Amino acid sequence: MIHHVVDESPPIHLLDPDLESIAEKVFAGRRLDLDDGRILYDTRDVHGVCRLADLVRRRMHGRAAYYNVNRHVNYSNICALSCSFCAFHRKKDQDGAYEMSVEEVTESAIQAAEAGATELHIVGGLHPWLGFDYYTSMLSAIREAAPRLHLKSFTAVEIVHLQRISKRGKQGFEGMKAVLRDLRDAGLGSLPGGGAEVFDDRAHDTAFKGKIRSDQWLDVHRAAHEIGLNSNATMLYGHVEGRPERLVHMDLLRRQQDATLRNWAAAQGIESAGAPDAPDAVVLTGPDARYPGERLPMPGQTGLETGYFQTIIPLPFFPDGSGLERLPGPSGLENLRTLAVARLMLDNIPHAKAFWIMQTLGMAQLMLDAGADDLDGTVVWYDITHLDNASTHQETTVGDLRRAATEAGFHPVERDTLYRQVERTGSDWRLAESPKG
Ligand code: SF4
Repeated sequence: MIHHVVDESPPIHLLDPDLESIAEKVFAGRRLDLDDGRILYDTRDVHGVCRLADLVRRRMHGRAAYYNVNRHVNYSNICALSCSFCAFHRKKDQDGAYEMSVEEVTESAIQAAEAGATELHIVGGLHPWLGFDYYTSMLSAIREAAPRLHLKSFTAVEIVHLQRISKRGKQGFEGMKAVLRDLRDAGLGSLPGGGAEVFDDRAHDTAFKGKIRSDQWLDVHRAAHEIGLNSNATMLYGHVEGRPERLVHMDLLRRQQDATLRNWAAAQGIESAGAPDAPDAVVLTGPDARYPGERLPMPGQTGLETGYFQTIIPLPFFPDGSGLERLPGPSGLENLRTLAVARLMLDNIPHAKAFWIMQTLGMAQLMLDAGADDLDGTVVWYDITHLDNASTHQETTVGDLRRAATEAGFHPVERDTLYRQVERTGSDWRLAESPKG
């Protein structure tokens, strides 16, 4: 059946009758439930799923395809844990183990700023003996040397580790907030969202034992949001979990974001967050007619003190070099479907990222047409996963990213970490005054 919907999107041709009721909900801007999610995963009509996700993406972002100019720094790969899926970590005396000094990390930051980067993405292993001072000194040294760089740093796993070594004496949620405040005061701008893996205890205990579970990961992000830091949310899939666990993962993120956005809307005096038929849901992905005022979220609102999940980033698992090398890893079609399902289910997270390093730029280009609105950035050094034995040096140029977006029929838009539009001449940049898009 062919559906013509109200905006400029092409007609949607669905081959599977099971998708009809889901399509009606998507057209009306209503929330999908877990049964809908199962149908989206089970249907043979993957392209129908992608078309529905594309409709949602175009409603939210038109034909904008976001990217940023960023650099990654992995300050150390020495880690107290040995997660079986991880090919990055080393023990102290193992070949390839390294640890950067504060001066070395700062030098990388200066080089990134001079090259025009707007963001530095800093993550590492759980270093067994670096003190809390190392991390605050690193952030403040960078802030002093390169004050315009946004520091998107530390996974939730690292934050829990930093809470342990901070010796602040406060435990639990309040201790977490205190540590995040210290880091924020030193220069932390947001959390990248890694370390979530998949929110399922069985999968966690099989592949990530020793790492924090979902409740702690979610608490770290809730604490960050409460002190006004934005964050992203990842989902590592295609290893020992199944599709149902991915849907639970999405549901848990969605619930937490609902609570955050409801509080946010209340603080702004906004009564309806866009879901009259589901008062607990904060749906951002419906047609414009559903939103008499501006859609949430609205970055830059005066008095806004709440952070939130900005972006969902589905990450395919790479078995090579990990303790789970026997597993095949997800296929291209599974990657495309998972991105589309995430866009449809996570109706209260504004952005969906096709992280080109893990998806390949070619696949990320296809994903722009299946729910993704963000390609990530120029990166340069990435040491966490290497696709097909790619080296640590994994750089794409602004020209490559813009060309990929344009060729796919989208308008490339440079953004900063908080999705504000950037105007650039070479390495010189400033925030645009006009609205993005
Ligand atoms: S995934 Fe993170 S915590 Fe686990 S071994 Fe690797 S670096 Fe360490």
